[in-house]
Amino acid sequence: MRFSKLRLTGFKSFVDPTDLLIGDGLTGVVGPNGCGKSNLLEALRWVMGENRPTAMRGGGMEDVIFAGASTRPARNFAEVSLHIDNADRLAPTGFNDSDHLEIVRRITRDVGSAYKVNGRDSRARDVTMLFADASTGAHSPALVRQGQISELINAKPKNRRRVLEDAAGIAGLYQRRHEAELKLKNTDANLTRVDDVLEQLT
Ligand code: ATP
Repeated sequence: MRFSKLRLTGFKSFVDPTDLLIGDGLTGVVGPNGCGKSNLLEALRWVMGENRPTAMRGGGMEDVIFAGASTRPARNFAEVSLHIDNADRLAPTGFNDSDHLEIVRRITRDVGSAYKVNGRDSRARDVTMLFADASTGAHSPALVRQGQISELINAKPKNRRRVLEDAAGIAGLYQRRHEAELKLKNTDANLTRVDDVLEQLT
């Protein structure tokens, strides 16, 4: 599977619908200061499920919505769609029944975020797991922001291991382990409650 196009509407400085065509191989974005290079990368992270406003350089998630300019009023929603070419049918199980995938995330003021995969409503978890299982996602080391290379060189071994784990495609397993641990904890609590009830009955 291969990212082929990113479309931004009302996202940060991209008030009008804007397409970024993504070719084969490495894609670099160059341009003058303040033209929106980082906003593009943030849009890509955001559609893949980024949920930390700080990672979007904002105080709240609604800060990604176009805030208005001297000549344009603010928008009420922001939308990013990511088109994925799946002709090789390598998308993770559950998403592998078509040659093309379109993931859409929209945030509306006072309403929050909603996701769609190929037009169908989806949960944030399903979208993040889709990308994690495909060895990518909002935290993928394949998305290199300014200053990241020097950060990586100076990083502690534990943080560098995380990069290798992401590249190896096991990031999704961490999420699943976390969910399994929560379920186990709940089951333990239920068992203790059953023991208490049995003790009272005997
Ligand atoms: P540099 O090379 O200096 O890092 P850049 O090309 O990466 O710049 P960005 O940081 O992506 O540029 O874009 C900054 C621009 O986006 C600023 O002009 C800022 O006002 C605008 N911007 C950010 N958030 C919003 C928003 N919610 N609404 C409107 N414009 C926004």
